[in-house]
Amino acid sequence: MPTIKKRTKRPWIPEKKPHEGYRHHNTKFYQSTAWRKLREEKLRKNPICEQCIRIGLIIPAQVVDHIVPINKGGAALDIDNLQSLCNPCHNRKSAMDK
Ligand SMILES: [Zn+2]
Repeated sequence: MPTIKKRTKRPWIPEKKPHEGYRHHNTKFYQSTAWRKLREEKLRKNPICEQCIRIGLIIPAQVVDHIVPINKGGAALDIDNLQSLCNPCHNRKSAMDK
């Protein structure tokens, strides 16, 4: 019985493209000092999830999200384009954006 070498390519597993995910998530931007400062300012001004509060839930925000995503032309560093979200709301929005 032949042994399968570890390096054998398995075509059903898509190969990782190292730069694609990087670009999609704007890693560089989210690590920038400018963004971190703006994010902190937003959370300080609005520490409650803006989606949940509309239905009367007071949930601490964990994520600062771009209302108009950067890759759709939204202003990256405009506080008016930001919203504070809890994780579930952010995940829901991310899923809808796709
Ligand atoms: Zn929420």
